[in-house]
Order: sequence, then C-alpha cells, then structure tokens
Amino acid sequence: MKEMLTWRQVLAQQWFLTRFCFKKAPGFMAFHLFESIKLQISIFFEFTWTVNYVLTVAEEGGDFKKILWCMGILMAAIAVSTVTFAIYKHYAFPRGKQVLYQALRMEIYKKAKEIDLSCYDDKDFYETFILATGETDRCMDRYLVFETSVLARLVGVTCSVLYCAYINPAALLVLIIILPLELLCVVQENKKTVAARMERVPHEQKREYGNRVFYLSDYAGELRLYPQMKDKCRTDYTEANDRIKSVNKKYGKQLFGYGLLHEVLLSRVVSEGGVWTVLLYQMLVLQAVTGAQLITSRNCVMRISANVKIIVDGLRSMAENAAYIYRIREFLQMESTIVSEKNEEVPQGSGGLSVEHVNFGYLADKQVLHDVTFAVEPKQKIALVGYNGSGKTTLVKLLLRLYDPLSGRICYHGKDIRDYRVMDYRRSIGSVFQDFKIYAATLKENVLMDVENGSREETYKVEKALYEAHFTLGDNRLSYQIETPLTTEFEKDGINLSGGEAQKVAIARTLYRTQDMIIMDEPSSALDPLAEYRLNQELNEIAKDKTVIFISHRLSTVRDADCIYMMEKGRIVEKGTHEGLIGINGKYATMWRIQAGLYADVGV
Ligand code: ADP
Repeated sequence: MKEMLTWRQVLAQQWFLTRFCFKKAPGFMAFHLFESIKLQISIFFEFTWTVNYVLTVAEEGGDFKKILWCMGILMAAIAVSTVTFAIYKHYAFPRGKQVLYQALRMEIYKKAKEIDLSCYDDKDFYETFILATGETDRCMDRYLVFETSVLARLVGVTCSVLYCAYINPAALLVLIIILPLELLCVVQENKKTVAARMERVPHEQKREYGNRVFYLSDYAGELRLYPQMKDKCRTDYTEANDRIKSVNKKYGKQLFGYGLLHEVLLSRVVSEGGVWTVLLYQMLVLQAVTGAQLITSRNCVMRISANVKIIVDGLRSMAENAAYIYRIREFLQMESTIVSEKNEEVPQGSGGLSVEHVNFGYLADKQVLHDVTFAVEPKQKIALVGYNGSGKTTLVKLLLRLYDPLSGRICYHGKDIRDYRVMDYRRSIGSVFQDFKIYAATLKENVLMDVENGSREETYKVEKALYEAHFTLGDNRLSYQIETPLTTEFEKDGINLSGGEAQKVAIARTLYRTQDMIIMDEPSSALDPLAEYRLNQELNEIAKDKTVIFISHRLSTVRDADCIYMMEKGRIVEKGTHEGLIGINGKYATMWRIQAGLYADVGV
C-alpha cells in the first residue's frame, strides 16, 4: 500500500462495498446479515438467558414443568434455526459469494476494456490494476467476514452487556479495568502479525516466481538447455524460503511473548481470577447475588471479553481491506482520455488517410515519433519499413487510435480521427498485429472474435477466410474442422498451433471482415520466406480493392507496394517505390542488399 488511510477513508471504503453488495445481491446480503446476527442472538439465549432461567427456577424450587417447557422451546428454536442455517451455509452462501465475486470482476473487466492502452505503460497504474484484479475475491471474502465478526458480534456484545447490567452490574467493573489492557495486547499482537506479513511479502514473491519457473511449461525447454539458470532459480528459491523462515522466527519470539502475556496472564489469571474473586465475594461474603446470577454474569463477562477481541481484530482486518478496496475504486474511477470529440460516424467506402506532422512519445521525456507526415490514397498499398525500434508499430497504434499523438493529427475520409466514435473507427480498420493472441476457444471463434457466431453462412465465410489465409483445413489434427478447440488449456481434444499456423488464423480474422482499410504489422513474420511470399501474392489479390498499410522486416514482401516509407529513429527518412529507392541508393537500398543476400538461396 502506498499510503495509510484515515479512519474516515476506511469507513468510506466499507460503505462503498456495502452499497455495492446490497445492490448486486440484496436477498443474499439480507440473509447473510440475518444469519450472522441470529447466530449471536441464539448463542446469547442458549448459553446465558436459558441458563439463568433454569438455574433461577431450580434455586427457587419452581415447577419442573417450567424448565421442560423452556428447554422444549429452546430445542424447537434451535432445530428451526439449524435448518435455515443449513440452507444459508450450503446454498445461499456459496452461490451469493460467487454472484458478488462476479459482479465486482465484471466492473473491473468492463473498465479494463475501456481504459487507454497508455495506462499499461504507467507503472503505478499497472500496480493498481494487478492489485485490483488479484484481490477482488479476497476483498469480498474479508468484507463478508466483517459482517459476521464485527456487526453481528456487536449485537452479541450489546445483549450480554445489557443483560449483565440487569443481573449484576458489578461484574462489568472487572471488565472495565481488564479489557483495555487485553485490547492493548491484541493491538500489539496484530501490529506484529502485520509487520511480519509485510516483511515476508518480497520473499514470498520471489518464492512464487521460483515456483512458476519450475511448474510452467514455458520455461521447461530452456531450463534443460541452461542448467546453470535452473540452479540459480533453485538457489534463489531456497534463499527466499530461508528468509521467510527467519522472519517467522524473529516475529515468532515476540508473538510468543505477547501470547503469554495476553492469553495466560491477562486472560486467564488476572481476568478470570478477578471475575471469580468479585463474584464469589458478592455471593459468599455480601450475599448479594445468587448462584444463578453468579454463573450468568460470569458467562456474560467472558462472552463480552471474547467478542470485543474478535471485533477489534475484525476492525483491523477492515482497515487492511479498505486499502485494497481503495485501490479497486481508484481503478474503477479511471477515465479514458481517448474519447470521441464529435461522436461522428465513420463514412462507408474507401477513404484517404493522412498523417500530418505527428509527434509522439510513450513517456514524457522520450519522444518516439518525430514530425511524421504522409498520405495514403484510397486503395493504395503502402509499406512501412525500417530496423527494430524505428517506430513502425507505434505509428500503427496511433493509426488505430490506441494512442493519440502529442501534436499533429491523423485524418481519415478527410476528418480528424478524434471526431469519430472510437470503437466505430477502430472497427472500420482490419488489423493484424505482431503480438496477436490465440484464445482457448474453437478455431471458428478465434476467427470470428467479437462477431456473433452461429449461422451456416458464417461457417462458410470463416472457412473461406482460413482458406485465403492459407490455413490448411484438411489437416487431420483438426478433428472437428473449424469447431476444433485451440490450445490444450481446457480441452484434451484441443490442438496447439505452430507460430506460422497461428499467424494464418490472425490473418484470417482480418480477411473475414470487410473493412476498407487493412493494417498489417509483420503479418507473416513466423512463416518461412517461401510461404510468406506466396501468402503475400494472395493477399495482394484479395485486398486489391482495399487500402493496405503493411509493415514488414522482409523487404521482398513490400517491393510491390505503391509507396514505401523507410523509418529510422521515429522519422520517415526515405520514401518512394522499390525501384525508386533502390535508384537513390540510400538506406533502403542498403537494407535491401543485405536481405537479398540472406534470402537469395530460397529464390524469392
Ligand atoms: P518498431 O515497430 O519499428 O520495431 P516500435 O514502435 O515498437 O518500433 O518502438 C519504437 C520505440 O518505442 C522503441 O524505442 C521502443 O522501445 C519504444 N516503445 C515501444 N513500446 C513502448 C511502450 N509501451 N512504452 C515505452 N516505450 C515503448
């Protein structure tokens, strides 16, 4: 946590989650609160009120039938209460908890979809995001425990205090003296427990990293090739474990001391001893209380003491939880800065695109694009080339409005793209990214992505897009054709695709759609040069009526472009056709010669 919250802020977070839970699952929340309070009230009646009643009747030589009636009513009440509790415990609680988990997660995911990609470049944001998503379920758990451990127990304490004040107020005096001392001990113990936990966190993170390295298949291959790294990870893991043990040892001694002082000396000797002394003195010397009053007031005092300690612990955990809720709220309140200024619709049909004096940087002190200017005519094919880190992908992210330029503007169909509805604009462009992902879903769903699926026509179109992307459907690994699940994450019949196959699926996603503009960022980098060449020939044919912006490292794939822009250090340094650029014998020509040497042997 970056900062400590004040009690006012803690209560505000608690209030936020209370409103959220009651709004999302009002029936369950009412049931949860009812059962928690009912438990405390029934404990009071069973172990305090009834005991007092039965003993008083017995002491006064009353009618045994009265006792039988009382016990009968108590048993009947307990039986009914047990049934409702069973319904709560086995049906309502597991279900209600899931509803709340899901409701909060949905809010977070909705926000995560809306916020700007630039947020992910901000370390503070990322920390908040990870914390918000990682802690949602636990936050909810702690909140529900708060209801049982604080609110319900407050009701229990109130019952015991009022009853004790009615039966024997003097017994409360011992509590008034001893309880503050006990609470002081509990608070100190809690502080030490939290301090120990905080000290363990970095070592636990390191140990968790070690765990991941050893169980995730991503690392398995490399660790076999580099045993030294495996040994280093094992040493780090053991070291982290040893540190955790020494933190536990250090705090263990102090916590043992507090435990002895609190549990043995204050709770048992001073508190219990004090209560018994006062009560026996009242009964035997002053003859001011009966046996029934002695037993009842002793029960009350002990229940109050135990419950107050639980409440204090509950409040501490509430304060800790508030810090997490605060982060979740901080995340939910984030606003996207990439919004539409005029909410205009994107015109249909091919339109020209112009990039005008665009400057951009991810971080305030490091500019990545410098005064980038170019124009693309409708149906033109242009290529962006350049070495790694020259800013090609960044430019594409700006074209898709995942980021906004710091200065300058990008126009589509003659209008600043900031005027169009953001999602409409993004959807009007087909894109294939280098870092596309394959999802644990069927092959068809991986092509459709956010498009509704189901109809026969859809199936035909998906198959056509895969065919055009050179994805071989006849592959006998595809047991269910386009319904074959991809990845083996959840399905044992699922298949894992090679890098090249996955890239063809990503290309099929774009071909399936009918946008007028396509942006492809290294769409075929995972294919071998020959397959890439053939696919590009095909793409040229398919996309002949579309505007295409193409990024590639391999210059052989871009030589047919209408115009090639060579980028270096965030600037466009050369532009022209392949022949024109070779003719001026500049940076493009140098890059071409180097690559021509590399690919000469495949005849491309
Ligand atoms: P290219 O696509 O030409 O390889 P990029 O556009 O990916 O180049 O990167 C251009 C520069 O921007 C590089 O210096 C890279 O380190 C930096 N960069 C890319 N993405 C980010 C990011 N999310 N945060 C900060 N810097 C980034």
